[in-house]
Amino acid sequence: MILNGKETALNLNNALKLNIQEDLKKYRAPHLAIILVGSHPASLSYIKGKLKAAESVGMKATLHHFEDDVQTETVYQMIQALNNDKDVDGMILQLPLPKQLDEAYLTQAIDVSKDADGFHVLNQGLLYQGKPAVKPATPYGMTLLLKAYNIDVLGKHAVIVGRSNIVGFPIARLLMDLGATITVCHSKTTDLSYHTKQADILVVSVGKPHLINKNMIKKDAIILDVGINKVDEKLVGDVDYNDVYDHVSAITPVPGGIGPMTIHALLLNTYHLYEKHVKINTK
Ligand code: NDP
Repeated sequence: MILNGKETALNLNNALKLNIQEDLKKYRAPHLAIILVGSHPASLSYIKGKLKAAESVGMKATLHHFEDDVQTETVYQMIQALNNDKDVDGMILQLPLPKQLDEAYLTQAIDVSKDADGFHVLNQGLLYQGKPAVKPATPYGMTLLLKAYNIDVLGKHAVIVGRSNIVGFPIARLLMDLGATITVCHSKTTDLSYHTKQADILVVSVGKPHLINKNMIKKDAIILDVGINKVDEKLVGDVDYNDVYDHVSAITPVPGGIGPMTIHALLLNTYHLYEKHVKINTK
């Protein structure tokens, strides 16, 4: 089975659009602000997708675009202005940033109540304590995709390759919350395939094309491939899709798998922040 993130995200975005249409009868539109630094082609393409998706569900989306050589203080001031703007519900700072910028400082400058990407330490702390938090968009999107395909995680062994703060580490926590037993692998893991072969659910978020092949997976595993790599002008995942296809019970394609679900989760995070700003504050 192909876990079609593109189609699932479209369906979920349509449902979100209906909610927003209903809200617009009483309230202003939800507003997502995006800060982009530089003109990295991949970032430009991600931003385009996010702006288009936000507008397609009836959100207001604004782009604040800086040159490559902008200094930390200038971006910080923009974040503060957006923090203070009552019309803005969610904000993201597109990563990666050019080297001269202090990424940790800027990410933490985003007000927790507008942290649409869920990268703020407070949101991450709440998540790791199992408390309500803005969930990072990619792991959140993955759980929504599993739910859409009625894939029950309870009691399964999930092996995660990659331990980044935005994907590997938080998906470990979310799948554990859903009742999975977790193994997390990384660059220092010895005998990676020993671990990947144990996986009922294998999540791969590394950034190395075709790192995982059919000899490294258990028959009928469920594969969530987060990696996006450009090879010969084509996008491929971290998993060798054609090689593993006949050995898996379900797999996400690249492109069209986790990417669109990440965008949907970002919109959903923004919508939930909007609900808190507009609905709760007017009660
Ligand atoms: P990072 O680049 O931050 O980290 C990569 C992780 O992979 C690290 O934990 C690293 O280990 C681990 N790693 C590196 N080499 C190996 C190896 N040979 N074996 C096992 N583990 C290894 O990861 P991200 O999670 O940010 O991104 C990973 C990929 O996912 C990228 O291709 C990115 O473009 C893509 N991505 C896609 C998204 C989507 O929406 N589809 C969203 C976010 C990312 P260590 O910690 O030891 O260094």
